[in-house]
Amino acid sequence: MFKKILIANRGEIAIRVIRACREMKIATVAIYSEADSESLHVRMADESVCVGSAPSKDSYLNMPNIISAALITGAEAIHPGYAYFSEQPQFAEACEACNIKFIGPKASAIELMGDKARAKETAAKAGVPCIPGSKGLVKSEQDAFKTASKMGYPVRLKATAGGGGRGIRVVMAEDELAAQLKIATAEAASAFGNGDLYLEKEIEEPRHVEVQLLGDEHGNYVHLGERECSIQRRNQKLLEEAPSTAVTPSIRAKMGEAAIKLAKAVGYSNAGTVEFLLDKHGRFYFMEMNTRVQVEHPVTEFVTGVDIVKEQIRVAAGEKLCVSQKDIEINGHSIECRIIAEDPANNFAPSVGRIDHYAAPGGIGVRLDTHIYSGYDIPPYYDAMLAKLIVWGKDRNEAIARMSRCLSEFEIDGIKTNISYQQRILANGYFRRGELSTAFIPRCMNGNE
Ligand code: ADP
Ligand code: ADP
Ligand code: MG
Repeated sequence: MFKKILIANRGEIAIRVIRACREMKIATVAIYSEADSESLHVRMADESVCVGSAPSKDSYLNMPNIISAALITGAEAIHPGYAYFSEQPQFAEACEACNIKFIGPKASAIELMGDKARAKETAAKAGVPCIPGSKGLVKSEQDAFKTASKMGYPVRLKATAGGGGRGIRVVMAEDELAAQLKIATAEAASAFGNGDLYLEKEIEEPRHVEVQLLGDEHGNYVHLGERECSIQRRNQKLLEEAPSTAVTPSIRAKMGEAAIKLAKAVGYSNAGTVEFLLDKHGRFYFMEMNTRVQVEHPVTEFVTGVDIVKEQIRVAAGEKLCVSQKDIEINGHSIECRIIAEDPANNFAPSVGRIDHYAAPGGIGVRLDTHIYSGYDIPPYYDAMLAKLIVWGKDRNEAIARMSRCLSEFEIDGIKTNISYQQRILANGYFRRGELSTAFIPRCMNGNE
């Protein structure tokens, strides 16, 4: 097993990894930017190295400095967390070239899945059902018109290098296509450094259902069931749960099998998530694969008892998975709310500043993953997510009641948060009945959008 791991991230996910390491008796190295010297992940790690100035591109995306920090401190492995370098094959390669183990899949698998259009082709070849759409990239305006009229509107333009809910445009009718194509190409080029797009049929009011996978470096795979992530605002997840109220044991088995088939086809190892859209008729379609730990992984940990981050570290060290498919049982129900520094009453404008006062919820079946504390100054440079509040209940109703109780206990003063907005979601009748789709927020939460 590794003796020392560097965590190439910040915020709650850096702390999540430090906690796993501490329980495994592995020493930790935090990296931080000049804006993050007071951050909790820095205080919690055994050692820390400042890797640059506040903007992410100079620090958390500063590859030479991060690799040097690992070499200087003698870290044998790097955990990338999510976002930043987690899905960049060049980073995984740089680690390998310096004899540092990248805690994630091989660079080749990251590369195959990171280009979303190519990932779909790979999935289709592996026999996984995909959302109908362009064959690979949109090659020209003419090509886009042809594909779209063949499928029928509405369609979606998606950046092949996109992520985090960005780089997506819905085109309702033919007369919008040319203009949207231009805007989407320009947006993708500036946001992701790659203007390439692909086109997809718009699935009507689907659910976002994703499968958590684990694979070791000896060819063993398990899936840990699904997460329901349909509660989204602007294609970004807000609240997630496990299991999904729409997934029967038979759908679960088929989705899990499809996800593992894809993983095998690309020689995948470590943790990964295969995202699907599930339509009203119980049919599911591959959307993309995230080749890293996900924000919402704790709901799966609650219902399966598997510590996903520890498994990531163990398999990266060459060990075999410590669970097999027959050991995996879904027990009870788990919900996660993303607590974000934003103002729902003011069009979700980001809120920065100092947290004057903070009191955390607790009690049975409650987990809080966060980097905030009383007196913490939220730097304006990074993701606005402050905390993940996760609960477990013996069934969905208990989980909802528990989450609602916890949100009412949660005190964060000095900045605006979406806590009251999350309460409104939980109180909604459709939500309570488990009648969900990705249209839930625009349909059911109107008036506050
Ligand atoms: P990202 O890489 O940003 O996560 P995804 O491809 O996973 O992008 O899509 C993000 C979200 O957009 C999905 O969770 C879903 O809500 C919506 N979406 C994506 N593709 C489609 C589609 N073809 N039809 C309907 N909704 C879609
Ligand atoms: P998850 O399914 O784990 O929630 P997300 O797609 O929401 O994954 O991404 C997790 C984090 O990474 C979010 O903070 C998101 O903004 C960020 N992220 C993911 N992909 C990208 C990308 N290509 N560019 C910028 N940020 C990204
Ligand atoms: Mg996605």
